[in-house]
Amino acid sequence: MTESPATDFHAERIQRLQAQLASDGIDLAVFGPSADLFYLTGFDAHLSERLNLLVVPASGQPALVVPTLEAPLVGDAARLASLHTWADHEDPAALAASVVGDIEGKTIAVGNQLWSAFLLRLQSRLGEGSWVEAAPIMRPLRMIKDAAEIEAMAEVSRRTDEAWEEFIEGPPISGLTETQALKRLVDLTEKRGLKVGWGICASGPNAASPHHHTGERVIQEGDSVIFDWGGVLDGYNSDVTRTVHVGPPSEEFKRVYQVVLEANQATFEAVKPGVPLQDLDRVARKVITDAGYGEAFLHRVGHGLGLEVHEEPYLVEGNELPLAAGMTFSDEPGIYLKGNLGVRIEDTVVCTEDGARKLNNATRDLVYMD
Ligand code: ZN
Ligand code: ZN
Repeated sequence: MTESPATDFHAERIQRLQAQLASDGIDLAVFGPSADLFYLTGFDAHLSERLNLLVVPASGQPALVVPTLEAPLVGDAARLASLHTWADHEDPAALAASVVGDIEGKTIAVGNQLWSAFLLRLQSRLGEGSWVEAAPIMRPLRMIKDAAEIEAMAEVSRRTDEAWEEFIEGPPISGLTETQALKRLVDLTEKRGLKVGWGICASGPNAASPHHHTGERVIQEGDSVIFDWGGVLDGYNSDVTRTVHVGPPSEEFKRVYQVVLEANQATFEAVKPGVPLQDLDRVARKVITDAGYGEAFLHRVGHGLGLEVHEEPYLVEGNELPLAAGMTFSDEPGIYLKGNLGVRIEDTVVCTEDGARKLNNATRDLVYMD
């Protein structure tokens, strides 16, 4: 995440949170450094042993407890909250407890990414109170992206696509290790101003492992090679997967590729407001199962993404939540044949008022690389 100035939309997000707290009968919410904190305030706090805490009461002004040495990082977020700083020799939990005040008979919502150590220290000083997860309140807020968020995601996705187009036009990957090939792609992505924190290159038999740990295997003719990576721009993530083939493919690979491509497209075409999220997984699974590869589709068809690479909503059997305009998520069916090959094709999709829009447009045609 990068610094972003607190603006009116942050104040608005806090107001929406406060309205929800009030209507749920929750007295206050606390958050550590996290995507939730960034979403609400624009403050990209350090995640470390030093306590940073946002306290949002159901009504009234929020408060930020921050280490003195990190106070300059709060920036414009200080406009949204009163600032309470603590020096290294002081007890931050005691300060936080005094900011929170008496909680007897009150209910406190806790951000899912507040470290347990901080929560336990806070609880030991605050005494009786009822503690609940903040996720059910944050989920509907963060899941529906506004127009500015969608444009941020479109831009990070567009630059990621550009990196891919340059990558596949580039020099051969055969003879490179997975690590070297991935680095080439990451460099092209970073060149476009994105921060890249993760990526997967899985070649040959390794491509059959969906979350393969990229390693020293040398890419060679006959391999299917999966690249799954993404970058961050202004806090928002891209997440793309493309599968290439080195040299002439087998009939089986071509068939598997075609099935995965059809599953990816069928899922996209099924997106519209009101459709239960699990139906998207079912659509992809039906295409793959009908082609005889049901057992080889090892994961859900997608996950929400935005400020986090994996966030709500999840496109998985059992999730009956209806799609709504503004949800952004991955569409990433795959087929994994153990010891042999793997294919995954992943795009980021946004649900619109009347259907869906793909944020990734890098070619999905089967690409042969040398
Ligand atoms: Zn991915
Ligand atoms: Zn993904």
